[in-house]
Amino acid sequence: MNRRDQFMSVPRQSGQERDSSERIGDFNEYKERFTEAEASEQASRCMDCGTPFCHVGETYGQVKIGCPVYNLIPEWNLLVEQGNFKEALGRLQQTNNFPEFTGRVCPAPCEGSCTLSINEPAVTIKQIERTIIDIGFEKGWVQPRIPAIRSQHRIAIVGSGPAGLAAADQLNQAGHQVTVFEREDQIGGLLTYGIPAMKLSKEIVARRVRLLETEGIRFRTGVTIGLDLSLDQLEAEYDAVILCVGATEPRKLHDVPSRGVGYAMDYLTSVTRHLLTGQSLTTLHDTKGKDVLVIGGGDTGADCVATALRQGCRSVVQFGKHEMPGQVRSPENMWPDTPNLYTLDYGYEEALVQFGRDPREYLIAIDRYTTGDAGQLTGVWTIHNEKIRHPDGRIEFRTISGTEKYFPVDTMLIAIGFSGVEQDVLRHLAVDSENGKIKAAAYATNRPGVFAAGDARRGQSLIVWAIREGREVAEVVEHHLLTLKKTG
Ligand SMILES: Cc1cc2nc3c(=O)[nH]c(=O)nc-3n(C[C@H](O)[C@H](O)[C@H](O)COP(=O)(O)OP(=O)(O)OC[C@H]3O[C@@H](n4cnc5c(N)ncnc54)[C@H](O)[C@@H]3O)c2cc1C
Ligand code: SF4
Repeated sequence: MNRRDQFMSVPRQSGQERDSSERIGDFNEYKERFTEAEASEQASRCMDCGTPFCHVGETYGQVKIGCPVYNLIPEWNLLVEQGNFKEALGRLQQTNNFPEFTGRVCPAPCEGSCTLSINEPAVTIKQIERTIIDIGFEKGWVQPRIPAIRSQHRIAIVGSGPAGLAAADQLNQAGHQVTVFEREDQIGGLLTYGIPAMKLSKEIVARRVRLLETEGIRFRTGVTIGLDLSLDQLEAEYDAVILCVGATEPRKLHDVPSRGVGYAMDYLTSVTRHLLTGQSLTTLHDTKGKDVLVIGGGDTGADCVATALRQGCRSVVQFGKHEMPGQVRSPENMWPDTPNLYTLDYGYEEALVQFGRDPREYLIAIDRYTTGDAGQLTGVWTIHNEKIRHPDGRIEFRTISGTEKYFPVDTMLIAIGFSGVEQDVLRHLAVDSENGKIKAAAYATNRPGVFAAGDARRGQSLIVWAIREGREVAEVVEHHLLTLKKTG
């Protein structure tokens, strides 16, 4: 019988990271999995609390709780503690199609909802998840599952990000004939061209794609639906079409200098494309020896900081609009909500080691740019703001005079978020949309037999949410196929 009180004696360990000054010399993954012994010890910290909020996976108003795919966390924690990794893998695969992705890059809302985290550091759930699946692949336990019986139903999925891949996996396992159409030269969506390789190796993505292909899913790259093939054609040839086209229309920054300025996504995509295919980088996207400014305090900005460091930039700063998060939860952000706390993410730690300072500047705004003769960006004048919360809930940013500062900068990358599905994609697909997203309340669009899921439906989100949407849309499509049988 296992003891359930190790949380009092075993401290949390997060797993080994490669040394910061070494890892900025390459684009290999910066983090390693646990050893089996480490994973078992960390899993033993699970209290078996009885009401595991970690796997609830719900949103109440603004409060987000637990794992969106309802991972059976306490169950696999117990199995890992007992050293039974094979059975733990079976449990994990019941709820999560791609734990090797979430185990590496999920921000782990589960840990924010872990009951232990009320007054102690949470169980290291994400790192245990990664260890289970990595061991599963290493020991050959993850094998192709080829459906024994095939239905006559044909399904087209547009977009090969985590939502499209999860829907494809579910429907293929149900025996249907699934084809995934992708406009890029590689499968994976933002798993491939978005999230940098040091967070998620592209070989890890390719390994899963090979497995899905062996299991019977057809992938067609270099095909843009709406241009190369119309949605009408897909509707005519397939019993259902699922649009998983993402939400990568960047929020724009206007009146910027004509040279030396670009969007974060274009930058991250071309750096990964350069790594994968050797395609040369534009001057803007090669930041070696440059003074880089990243606009936007979010995770995409953090990935730009880490990428510029690996390219050998001369300096890097990141501007955020909001204040520095606190070290403890605020009263509006209490457990079991996902915590908004100060953390030293991998790229920030690397910048600290390389340049002796955290690159982030908070509550800062650009007042004006300085440029050279050819319109090339040479620097920015900034001013700091104070954030005022009015009693009616309004938030106002007021400039603080006397805080003007100059930053010499020759490359500026804009990472201020995404407004929805790319406008060209929406125009060519001709389905109803609302606020830049495809309108599909219960996954069905206004076109019969055409469904939508992932970021395209919910807006820019997380991989774990894309997987959940892929699983749920597959269920809705199954019901649709049943109605076809009845009417056909
Ligand atoms: C830089 C960056 C870093 C991120 N880091 C993380 C992270 O660390 N952790 C995390 O959980 N989330 C992260 N995210 C968010 C996460 O990647 C997304 O929420 C997730 O990938 C959404 O999945 P999706 O399948 O809905 O869409 P996407 O992954 O965007 O895939 C959509 C696919 O559709 C294709 N497509 C679009 N239109 C067409 C068409 N007409 N025809 C054919 N194909 C088409 C696109 O080429 C793309 O491949 C990050 C996002 C960005 C931008
Ligand atoms: S998928 Fe994300 S939220 Fe779910 S258990 Fe893994 S790390 Fe936690």
